[in-house]
Amino acid sequence: MRRNQKCIHLNLDKMKSVITKLLIILCFTFSIEIANAQVQIAEGDPPNNTDLPFFFKSKLEHIDEELALVEKGKVEAVAISPGGLPVYAVYYGEKEEFHSQANYNSAVAARNPAYYAQKGPDTKPVVFIIGPVHGQEVEGIVGVVNLIHIAETGKDYRGRDWSELQQKIEQCRVIIIPCANPDGRRRCPYDSFLGLHEDMVTKYGQGTRKDGSMWGWPGAKSNHPMVGDVGILGSYFNDAGINIMHDEFFHPMAAETKAILEITRKEAPDMTVTVHSHETPPAIYNPMYTAWYMKERVYDLEKRLNNRYKEAQLSFTPDSLLRVPRKEDDEFPPHDSFNLVCALHNLSGTMAFAYENNDGTISDRIPEPFVTYEDILDIQLLLYDEMLDYALNDRLYWTLEE
Ligand SMILES: [Zn+2]
Repeated sequence: MRRNQKCIHLNLDKMKSVITKLLIILCFTFSIEIANAQVQIAEGDPPNNTDLPFFFKSKLEHIDEELALVEKGKVEAVAISPGGLPVYAVYYGEKEEFHSQANYNSAVAARNPAYYAQKGPDTKPVVFIIGPVHGQEVEGIVGVVNLIHIAETGKDYRGRDWSELQQKIEQCRVIIIPCANPDGRRRCPYDSFLGLHEDMVTKYGQGTRKDGSMWGWPGAKSNHPMVGDVGILGSYFNDAGINIMHDEFFHPMAAETKAILEITRKEAPDMTVTVHSHETPPAIYNPMYTAWYMKERVYDLEKRLNNRYKEAQLSFTPDSLLRVPRKEDDEFPPHDSFNLVCALHNLSGTMAFAYENNDGTISDRIPEPFVTYEDILDIQLLLYDEMLDYALNDRLYWTLEE
C-alpha cells in the first residue's frame, strides 16, 4: 500500500513536471508572438543594441529555452501574470522538513524562530533568488539564465568554468525565479541599455504620462496602481499597473507578489535577493524595516562583495560611499518604505536585500559606461558566489535545543 502511494506520488510529480515542460515548449513555440508584443521603440529614440553577445540572454524566450533544458532542477509555473504570462520558479536541492509549529512572527514573539522553522546544522541552507520585478532591468535575466546554466552544466554561456559555484549550489536548496515580472519585460523594447542614455530607462522603465512627460523616479511611485494618466506604461509595472516592489503586502494585488510571498513563507530562506539595475556601480541595498542584527549581516556581505569586485577589477563602490546600516525614519515626512524586501524579512526572518546591477547607461554625470557586457555577467555571478559562501559558512542556526 505504502509503495503504491509512493508510486502515485512519483507519477504525480512526473506528470507535474511534464505539464510544466509542455507549457514551456508552448510558450517557446509562441515566443515569436511574445517578441512581437514588445512595445516598439518610439521614433527618435536610439535603436536596440545589435552587438549583444551570445551569452547576454536577457529575453523572455531565453528563459523559456533555458528552462526547457533543466534536468537537475524542478521547474514550476508559480503564477500567471495579468498579461497571461507564466512566472516560473526553478528549485535545486530537496526541500527539508523544518517541523513548523507557528508562523514566523508568532515564533519570534515566543522568543525562538525555530518554532517556525527548525534549521539546524543537519539542514541545508536555503537561498532564494528573485529575478527582475522591474521589467526594464533586463540585466538580471542575463545573470539568472547563466546561473541556471551553471547549476545544470558547471559552465556559463561563454563556456567559462564555474564548477565551484555549481558545487555550492548543490550544497544548498536554491530557488530561482528568472523573471518576476514577465509583463514588464515584454513591454520593454530594449534587450540591453549598455551605452544608451539613462533617459531611455526612465522613459520605458517608469513610463510616461499621456502628454509624453516622464513619470520618473520616484514620481512613478506616486500613482499606484499605475493607471489613468498613462502614455507608455513603464516596465516597472505588470500589465495591471502594479509595482511588485511596492505591492500591498497585507493584501497583495498581484499574483506575482502572492507567489513570492508564498515561496518565502514555505521555504524559510536563509537568504533572499531581489535583483535590480541602476546607473551607478553594482551594490547591495540594505532594507529599512528589518532587524538590526540582520542589517549588520547584510552590510557585512555588501563589504565582502565590494572587495570581491575590487579584486576582480570590476566596477565597485569606494569604501567611503558604502551604505552603513541606519535606523528608519526619525522625522516627518517619512520616506523609508516597507517594501517587498522588508516584507520578506518580516514574513520569514530571511536575510533579505535588494541588489542593483549596473545597467551601463550614460548621462552627463556618467559619460562612459562603467561596465561591458562581460562585466554585467561577472558582477552577478560573483554576487551569487558570495551569497552562497555566506549562506554556507556564516549561517544562523535556528534550533529548539538549549
Ligand atoms: Zn528595480
